[in-house]
Amino acid sequence: MSYDVLIVGGGASGLAAAARLSGQPLRVLLLERNPRVGKKILSTGNGRCNLSNEQMSAEFYGEAAGFVRELYETVPPEEVLSFFHSLGLMTVSEEGRIYPRTLAAASVLDTLRQAIDSPNITLLTDTRVTALSQEQNGMWTAESADGKRFHARYALLAAGGSAAPKSGSDGSGAALLASLSLPLTPPSPALVQLKTRPALPALKGLRTRASLRLQIDGCDSDQETGELLFTEYGISGVCVFQLSGTAATALAAGHSVRVRIHLLPELNPDSVQEWLGSRLLAFGREASLSTCFTGVFQRILTESVLKAAGLKPDHSAGLTHAEQMRLCETITGFPLEITGTQGFDHAQVTRGGLKLTALNPQTMEVRQGLYCAGEILDCDGPCGGYNLHFAFASGIAAADAIAASAARHRP
Ligand SMILES: Cc1cc2nc3c(=O)[nH]c(=O)nc-3n(C[C@H](O)[C@H](O)[C@H](O)COP(=O)(O)OP(=O)(O)OC[C@H]3O[C@@H](n4cnc5c(N)ncnc54)[C@H](O)[C@@H]3O)c2cc1C
Repeated sequence: MSYDVLIVGGGASGLAAAARLSGQPLRVLLLERNPRVGKKILSTGNGRCNLSNEQMSAEFYGEAAGFVRELYETVPPEEVLSFFHSLGLMTVSEEGRIYPRTLAAASVLDTLRQAIDSPNITLLTDTRVTALSQEQNGMWTAESADGKRFHARYALLAAGGSAAPKSGSDGSGAALLASLSLPLTPPSPALVQLKTRPALPALKGLRTRASLRLQIDGCDSDQETGELLFTEYGISGVCVFQLSGTAATALAAGHSVRVRIHLLPELNPDSVQEWLGSRLLAFGREASLSTCFTGVFQRILTESVLKAAGLKPDHSAGLTHAEQMRLCETITGFPLEITGTQGFDHAQVTRGGLKLTALNPQTMEVRQGLYCAGEILDCDGPCGGYNLHFAFASGIAAADAIAASAARHRP
C-alpha cells in the first residue's frame, strides 16, 4: 500500500509526529509492533509522566548540546508545551518538573491517541518493521515481519533505543539504520542502577541523603546530590541514575570508575571534622564508637562506615588523631568501586544510537525523505523530563519538515 508518510514506532516521538501531521493533506501510516501504542509512556515518571521541565535547555544534553540547541531553536521548549495544551492536556509543575495535571501518564497517552484519531492517519499495530529500503524512484519501503510491504515518499524512524525492551524498543531501530549503512554509536544503558564492589547487601533497602562524586581513573568527574538507595548489587536513586551514563561510557572505554559518597552532605568536610571531634569528646573514652552516630545514621549504616574506616562498632570513642581523620574521610568520601551497570531491562534510556552528524538538527532529515526522531538518536538527557521532551520536540520537528517538504512538492 502506498502512503505519503510512514512512521515506524508509536512511542513518544512517533506519536508526537503523527499528532502534528493530523489533519494535514498527507496520508500517514503509523506502524507499531505492540498491540497498542505508547506502552513506555505509561511507565514514565512512576506512572505520572514527567514530560518536560521548566529549566529546559540544550546544556542538559552533554555532548549533544550543539545539536539540541539547534533543534530547540527550531522547536522551542514552550512550543512543545503549547502543542500539548492545544491537544487539550493540562499540565502542572512540581519543583520545575512538568506533569499532566491528572498526575497520570495515561492522560498524556490518551491525549496523543485522541489526536491521531483522524481520517488522514492509519494506525497498524502488531506490525513489526524488519526492513527499510529506498527504491530507485526515491520512495521508501518498509517490510513487516509478516511479509507486508508499505510504501511512502517520506519515512520517519521513531523506533526508540534499547532501554526497557519489554515496552517494545529492543534496538531493532538501530538494526534498520545499520542496514542503510548509517553511522551508529554502540548503545549502553543510561539512567540505570550501578553495580559496586563491595556490594554491601546488608544495606539493601536503606535510603539516605548523600552527595556522590564520580571518579574516573582517580580524577573527579561529575557530582550529584540526592536520595541514595542501597541495593543488593550496588546503588540506585536519581543521583545514581544521573551519573550512570558517564560511568557506563568510562567503563566501556576501560577506565577505572569509583564513587565517593559523602554521607552527611549538609556539612562540608571541615564541618564534619569539627562535628566529629566535638561528638567524640562529648561521648568520652568510656562510650562505644557506634553510639556517637545514634540519630545521625541508621545503625546498619554506622556499622558499614566504621568497618570501611577499619574500626569496630564497640571501639572506644577515644580515637587517635589518625583514626579520627580516617573516619572523617570515610563519612565524607565512602569509597565504592563501580563494576558495571544494570542492563537495558532496568535502564530508562539508551546512550548511543544514530550519530548526530548524520542528520540535520532543524529537520531531523537523515537523507532524502528519511527522518529520525527520539531515543534512536545518540542523545540522552538527565532525569527530569529531558528525554521525553527531546522525543516530542524531535518528532514535532520531523513532522513539520515533512509537511513543509510535501507542500513544496505539491503541484
Ligand atoms: C521506566 C521508565 C521511566 C521513564 N520516565 C521518564 C520520565 O518521567 N521523563 C522522561 O523525560 N523520560 C522518561 N523515560 C525515558 C522516555 O520514556 C524515553 O526517552 C522516550 O519514551 C523515548 O521516546 P521514543 O519515541 O524515542 O521511543 P519509545 O517511547 O521507546 O517508542 C518506540 C516505539 O517504537 C516501537 N518499535 C520499536 N521497534 C519497532 C519496529 N521494528 N517496528 C515497529 N515498531 C517498533 C516500540 O514498540 C515503541 O512503541 C523513562 C523511561 C523508562 C523506561
